[in-house]
Amino acid sequence: QVIRCRAAVAWATGKPLSLEEVEVAPPKAGEVRIKIVATGICRTDDHILEGSFPDVDFPVIPGHEGAGIVESVGEGVTSVKPGEKVILVSLPHCGECSFCLNPESNYCLKSHLSEPQNLLPDKTSRFTCKGKQIHHFLWVSTFSEYTVIPEYAVAKIDAAAPLDKVCLLGCGFSTGYGAAINAAKVKPGSTCAIFGLGGVGLSVVIGCKVAGASRIIAIDINKDKFAKAKELGATDCLNPRDFKKPIQEVVTEMTGHGVDYSFEAIGLADTMIAALASCNMNTGVCVMVGLADSGSLISIDPMLLLSGRTWKGTLLGGMKLR
Ligand code: NAD
Ligand code: ZN
Ligand code: ZN
Repeated sequence: QVIRCRAAVAWATGKPLSLEEVEVAPPKAGEVRIKIVATGICRTDDHILEGSFPDVDFPVIPGHEGAGIVESVGEGVTSVKPGEKVILVSLPHCGECSFCLNPESNYCLKSHLSEPQNLLPDKTSRFTCKGKQIHHFLWVSTFSEYTVIPEYAVAKIDAAAPLDKVCLLGCGFSTGYGAAINAAKVKPGSTCAIFGLGGVGLSVVIGCKVAGASRIIAIDINKDKFAKAKELGATDCLNPRDFKKPIQEVVTEMTGHGVDYSFEAIGLADTMIAALASCNMNTGVCVMVGLADSGSLISIDPMLLLSGRTWKGTLLGGMKLR
């Protein structure tokens, strides 16, 4: 049976989301239809509206931090049943490809990133609105009251889990926490600097704190973020606009030779370079988490790396999300 429900549809770049009645087709083989109970809003959803996320086809239903209840399952689905609570994961896990079998990797070759056409794996959509096909986003599309997703992008969770909280595991929390724990591998007693204190950056702060960092420097141009950052473990909060000199010089002076680990959770070339230059010139590790506009380029002084720094990125905090 087709379900009619509400969804927030992005019809074109640069236009606000519009609330529409959509039709959601039943799940095909290997797919699951889910009633979305809670969804977060990640900055990446805004990148879609601005047209700065690569390979998005419009019209599209964004949203990729959701949790809900299985409504129905397609043929062959065995890992979840109607009525069970699940988190939708924005990076699937088929469990069979070479990336899934590699314990070091959290990528999957059978993902929407390998074939970025914003349709389900059979290259069709389950959404229509006003007679038009609507695209999926990362297969997840949580800004709809119902959505259809491949079984291997669905994680079954405990029946007691509070869906309004665990939905953040679908992207923001896993990304930030994993950036500290998996990508940087923050060591006890180390120093860290986090650029950007949104949902992702604050989750990096939590990861650094859990890993036992002794100094956690939280950086944002919005000082209203500082109270929450301190509550979660930040020891120092800096607003780059309060300083005449570049923020990387401030961080380097505060710590002697720069932090052991730095993180960029904003998505701007300038702050990516500032984060890189803020870590120790020889042993520092800088993790790029923020998503830069598609097509943008960074140019850096090669000495920043030649002296020994490590610069790396992370997708979803390196977590095998499912
Ligand atoms: P957000 O918009 O909630 O937070 C960004 C923060 O950066 C804000 O607090 C803002 O005030 C601050 N900021 C903006 N410009 C700044 C500047 N010049 N200097 C210092 N601070 C500045 O975003 P979010 O949801 O936390 O996501 C952060 C970034 O991570 C986004 O680019 C998002 O697309 C990306 N992201 C990446 C992954 C991944 O897998 N790598 C996953 C999720 C999100
Ligand atoms: Zn996200
Ligand atoms: Zn796989």
